[in-house]
Amino acid sequence: MPLRAGEVGMYNCGPTVYDRQHIGNLYSYVVADVVRRTFEYFGYRVKQVMNITDVGHIVDDADEGEDKMALGARRAGKDPLQIADEYTRLFMEDRRKLNVQDPGVVAKATDHIAEMIALIQRLIEKGNAYVAPDGVYFDVTTFPGYGTRLNAESPEQRVAGARVEVNPHKRHPSDFALWRAAKPGDLQQWDSPWGRGNPGWHIECSAMSMKYLGETFDIHTGGEDHLFPHHECEIAQSEAATGKPFVRYWLHVRFLRVDNERMAKSKGGFFTLDDISGWGYDPLAFRLLALGAGYRNGLDFTTKGMDAAQSRLERWRRTIRTAHAATKGRVAEPEGEHAITREFRDALLDDFNTPKALAAAEKALNLAATVDTDEQEHALWMLFDMDEVLALSLKESATTNDELSADERALFDRREAARKAGDYAKSDELRKELLERFGIQVKDTKDGTRWERVGRKGA
Ligand SMILES: [Zn+2]
Repeated sequence: MPLRAGEVGMYNCGPTVYDRQHIGNLYSYVVADVVRRTFEYFGYRVKQVMNITDVGHIVDDADEGEDKMALGARRAGKDPLQIADEYTRLFMEDRRKLNVQDPGVVAKATDHIAEMIALIQRLIEKGNAYVAPDGVYFDVTTFPGYGTRLNAESPEQRVAGARVEVNPHKRHPSDFALWRAAKPGDLQQWDSPWGRGNPGWHIECSAMSMKYLGETFDIHTGGEDHLFPHHECEIAQSEAATGKPFVRYWLHVRFLRVDNERMAKSKGGFFTLDDISGWGYDPLAFRLLALGAGYRNGLDFTTKGMDAAQSRLERWRRTIRTAHAATKGRVAEPEGEHAITREFRDALLDDFNTPKALAAAEKALNLAATVDTDEQEHALWMLFDMDEVLALSLKESATTNDELSADERALFDRREAARKAGDYAKSDELRKELLERFGIQVKDTKDGTRWERVGRKGA
């Protein structure tokens, strides 16, 4: 049950916009989108807030090292805010290609420096933070249970495993920066009661989430890499400041695993959505792949998996298109809750179990493939209803013609010409190329040449 009747407050840890987002990050926003769509599907309003980290955030997530925004700016020879705007725009475009809805509030860190300063001040007044020569630190000894709220690994174990440079200004080695005094040449700095400087990464999320969602809210999402230190720090500083519970449910998305050799080699496993599209996959096939993995298990990203997801998506679209043509576009809600719809809803209510939800959708597709138009009308209604959450553009696929793209058509025509000219060696070669480049299988029948999308092999 949400805190406020009928409304769910959700905060998603957003990206640091100093580079393109890789598909592992995009995967976690697909999961957050499923959460939002599920609540909306069941009739809740969702107030969704996502931050954009356009300041600071040091490279190794500790308090030392170069800050990511400065790194990105230096690399491109541009101003940090130009870099932030450009990568924010690309990130939002990637999200939309994956049918991830825009959050109601997209909060940029640089627009919320005043809120962060106010929160830091509150922590100093309460005795949870102290001013040091190089910034302001949170005193972890004032927050019992620091670092242990979300995961069983103790802070001592973590410290033992990490390379921690001793900072003589910290009272305790685990104290973390709320504010960092400006260093010479810092591109991003603001006035504060403690001199010029810039905010720590963790305080940003506490200040912005509480501003828009209140001091206690329902859901906070992030990747498993956010568990520690980021989210533990958020809890400590928020609850120390307010004396109230910060978040009711935390949802952490497991990492995406890349185990295909070719993919792992190029760019060290860092792929963007553009890379995937460039290999001939539909971005929504990536969404389907993500839905096929439970968020608690993490996602295995392989060419085999992507090929299967692409073929699956194309099969769904074909089935829906055929059924839609058979019913002449009629769609009818079944009387009462259909068993398949119930199965779909139960899957979502079972901790957002999207693999099970997809299994229910497959049953509806089987029904759509029957010859009984009444059944087909019901099946289409169920599929379009499910698509409120799955967001695979199923309704659009009912009416979109499956045409060859210009590149595909050109190659197809060249192959036709070779075949008609009796150059069978050439024709076979081009047939192979159509399959390898575009996943299009060509068949010569007595009625002429047919083609079918079967997915690319060995991308
Ligand atoms: Zn965050």
